[in-house]
Amino acid sequence: MKTSFRTFLLGGLVLAGVSLAPSKLHVTADDVALYGYSAESSRTERQWEEKMRAIPDPKNLRAYMERLTARPHNVGSPYDKDNAEWLLAKFQEFGLDVHIETFSVLYPTPKERLVELVDGGPHFTAKMQEPPVPEDPTSSQTAEQLPTYNAYSIDGDVTAPLVYVNYGMPEDYEVLERRGISVKGAIVIARYGRTWRGIKPLMGAEHGAVGCIIYSDPHDDGYSGGEVFPKGPWRPKDGVQRGSVQDSAVFMGDPLTPGIGATADAKRVPLKDAQSLTKIPVLPISYADAEPLLAAIGGPVAPRDWRGGLPITYRLGPDPAKVHLKVYSNWDMKPLYDVIAKIPGSTHPDEWVIRGNHHDAWVNGAEDPISGMVTVLEEARSMGELLKQGWKPKRTLIYCAWDGEEPGLLGSTEWVETHVDELRKHAVIYINSDSNSRGYLALEGSHTLEHFINDVARDIQDPETKLSVWKRAQLKGIADAATADERREFLERHDIRLDMLGGGSDHAPFINFAGIASLGIGYGGEDHGGIYHSIYDDFYWYTHFSDYDFVYGRALCQTGGTAMMRMANADLLPFQFADFADDVKMYVREVEKFAGQQRDEIQERNQKISEGLYEATSDPRETWMAPKKEELPPHLNFAPLDNAVEDLTRSAGEYQKALEKISANGGAVLANASLQDVNELLIQSERKLTTPEGLPGRFWYKHQLYAPGAYTGYSAKAIPAVRENLEQKKWKEAEQAAARVAQVLENESALINSATAKLSALGK
Ligand SMILES: [Zn+2]
Repeated sequence: MKTSFRTFLLGGLVLAGVSLAPSKLHVTADDVALYGYSAESSRTERQWEEKMRAIPDPKNLRAYMERLTARPHNVGSPYDKDNAEWLLAKFQEFGLDVHIETFSVLYPTPKERLVELVDGGPHFTAKMQEPPVPEDPTSSQTAEQLPTYNAYSIDGDVTAPLVYVNYGMPEDYEVLERRGISVKGAIVIARYGRTWRGIKPLMGAEHGAVGCIIYSDPHDDGYSGGEVFPKGPWRPKDGVQRGSVQDSAVFMGDPLTPGIGATADAKRVPLKDAQSLTKIPVLPISYADAEPLLAAIGGPVAPRDWRGGLPITYRLGPDPAKVHLKVYSNWDMKPLYDVIAKIPGSTHPDEWVIRGNHHDAWVNGAEDPISGMVTVLEEARSMGELLKQGWKPKRTLIYCAWDGEEPGLLGSTEWVETHVDELRKHAVIYINSDSNSRGYLALEGSHTLEHFINDVARDIQDPETKLSVWKRAQLKGIADAATADERREFLERHDIRLDMLGGGSDHAPFINFAGIASLGIGYGGEDHGGIYHSIYDDFYWYTHFSDYDFVYGRALCQTGGTAMMRMANADLLPFQFADFADDVKMYVREVEKFAGQQRDEIQERNQKISEGLYEATSDPRETWMAPKKEELPPHLNFAPLDNAVEDLTRSAGEYQKALEKISANGGAVLANASLQDVNELLIQSERKLTTPEGLPGRFWYKHQLYAPGAYTGYSAKAIPAVRENLEQKKWKEAEQAAARVAQVLENESALINSATAKLSALGK
């Protein structure tokens, strides 16, 4: 379901006052040992990696895609199962030990859908049907296409006035409040974008709305971007974005089995008690269907930045438009088919290096997810080829093709929940992808892997520019930097900072629930379009408007494959804590700064209210409500966090010193000593960042450093327990959370210290 987390802004190379020269270029010569390797094992590893990178073939990627996208393959469809069985046979053919694991999950499909304008304009019934396009052969498979809908909307039949809420985010409701507009008893219409779609009905319901319509505005992914499909890649007027609206704030996965695997005999919550369904009915529509509804809305004209690309005057409402919204689903249980393939490790079979991508789609799903899935398959083929040539990974490699990602990360979540005890013991890392296109390598994941994945990126060549993908990402970072400091950091910092992983894909159960260090990889930023979750995301679209020669597909195979091999064969697992400590320090500073800003803003607004500024500057012919005075927050004590960061920084530095010592002279110690004890600690290093009880009110999210925001969905929040309490103005709770997170960081420092002690002992 992933959308791009990193926004690739257009624009030239802005380098005012900064010279490109001092950039520290990494030396990739064979005589510099890979991090965590002795000189000798590094040489051997590099040779095998190079062999692997020569294997992936764009022709195969294309052929796999054609096969996997030949028919619609949503959860529960015949072709979903067919694909799983085909993937199984492929992994088998490549020499992997493979099986299918099944789960049984709640998966609603639409039975009745209606959106009609009943007042305020000529009667109009939304079509909610995407027409086939003659030149696109799979677009005509109408009998197998899942109708346009939002999975996990509750059933409902409501008639109410319509209010336009922009993207339907918390700040949009603040604007409505200032204009004196309430959505109580209304149906809200929100445009797609800016936030995870599930937030839109959630926010609507919290403000008293009785229904929600989500539409794709042409400004966001339609003709404002360029030619629409089939002439160009952008969303045509009847194209609709399907998608899940599950309330994922508390947990992900099957709504009937929170926190446990949805196996045949699992204890299930009755449907009526399922907590993650929406509170109000919701349906998605196209911009052709949205136009008459929006045109019928009266009331004040929408603020300038709320206006989309339709040729109408956007108004807020509520009168006179009145809409009838009806949605009923078949609340059936459906099977999931996760394909799990293994290559057993030769020396440490109990240490697992895991890679995955989902195989289910909303319809034919060429970009999402098959463009990513095929690279995982080809990567597995490459490993199979190496095995034939005598290569043996030290650790176990596990390749996964998940089912049921689209409705709510079902396949990965149920698998992780089922195997959580083994995974917490054995899993070293998880590497996820979910679609691929042309452009820049996304660098996101656990910060203990920041140095590791930066090094991998230095060894992968960008197919268009022939630079390393690392160099290209660095230059892009410089070009897009918003401030001089940011720019300087891209120039001078040895490793590019990783973005945090949000909630939008299968990494979430690994990192958020099980505390397994995770990475998200994929190329993007150059292809644009508007076929996301529509019938037009298919082989025709992908092979006309995206990575049609599959060279970035090959680059993704090389990236994932290199990372898997390097992690599987390292003498000492290449976790690194210096970058990590630096990132944590930055996040702590940010959260402290945010608390200060909140205080300043409240103070300033209170002052403006006292001065009568809002009354004096609002147009008296229109309705404006002045904001209310708020109590000034107390100064909060973040000292425990500051101290913990200092300890962490010190521990990370000492670990680095100890490692450098035993890496000297070719790293004979690394090559010969048993590093089992240290590696076991390193495997646990991400687990230490979790707590059994999880975040406040969000038991499933156990990681204390990152979580998708409860009100942002996809995008992640750092130190979420503190951050979200601050956002909700729960000052005391924020301070208590800071102390708890500080303790987690102190525990992490202690773990690093014991790893350092063990390394130092080896060096003696
Ligand atoms: Zn996806």
